[in-house]
Amino acid sequence: MNKLFTRLHLIALNSILVALVISLSSFTNQQDSAKNNGYHFKTVVIDAGHGGKDPGTHGLHTNEKTVALQIAKKLRAAIEDQMPGIRTVMTRSDDTFIPLDTRSQIANEHHGNLFISIHCNSSPEGTGYSDHKQKGTMMLVYGFHRVKEQLEAIRENSSIYIEKDYKTKYQSYDEDDPVNRILLNAYMQKYRQHSIFFGDILNEEFKTKGRVTIGVKEQGILVLAHSAMPAVMIETGFINNPTDEDYLTSDEGQDEIVQVIIKSLKRYKAKTNG
Ligand SMILES: [Zn+2]
Repeated sequence: MNKLFTRLHLIALNSILVALVISLSSFTNQQDSAKNNGYHFKTVVIDAGHGGKDPGTHGLHTNEKTVALQIAKKLRAAIEDQMPGIRTVMTRSDDTFIPLDTRSQIANEHHGNLFISIHCNSSPEGTGYSDHKQKGTMMLVYGFHRVKEQLEAIRENSSIYIEKDYKTKYQSYDEDDPVNRILLNAYMQKYRQHSIFFGDILNEEFKTKGRVTIGVKEQGILVLAHSAMPAVMIETGFINNPTDEDYLTSDEGQDEIVQVIIKSLKRYKAKTNG
């Protein structure tokens, strides 16, 4: 038992150290680039949720992986078009299954400065027409498990159960373990404030467009936890709510979501580079 724990702690420690080294080298790169041209917000990682054998949640006509990829691609095009100098990295650009830890690895290896994960929400009532269903957008940032606020975290983390070796691979990330908790805590403090800051900007901008917003919540979302940069998951709408599904699948809705993110990115960049 003790041996197993020691081994798991070593694995956890190792993964945290690797991420810290990557983040420190990214910081050095940022400093270099700041010295060169006064610019240190450079790379946005766009993460389209789910994919391949993991469809995510679904509505009456479509599923989450499809909507997430459509919005992610439009976001990439909009950043390239409207934010010259900003580099984009996609964790997937087609209908492929990418494990959660690989998504963070891609983000870390490319020295991302901000991680944006695109998803759709779903309320427990399931699909079908009803006037009382939840709707609107919600921003998630990484926080330790909080009782009663784990609905989205449980759903978004469930991708790991599709991976055959998830038990050995993710056991070392058990956040209830006091050692991991201390390690993760020190590590995450670096990025928590920036993540919440960006989440708040997004929330304001969605409100300005007249969208219902649930606000910014902290949850134990794995893909955010292991990205060594500020990271926000955008639950763009409730796909099981037919009104939201129509919005999420329409060009108008997708374009509006993308423009909200672009405006928020510009505000975030102005503040962080200032
Ligand atoms: Zn999702």
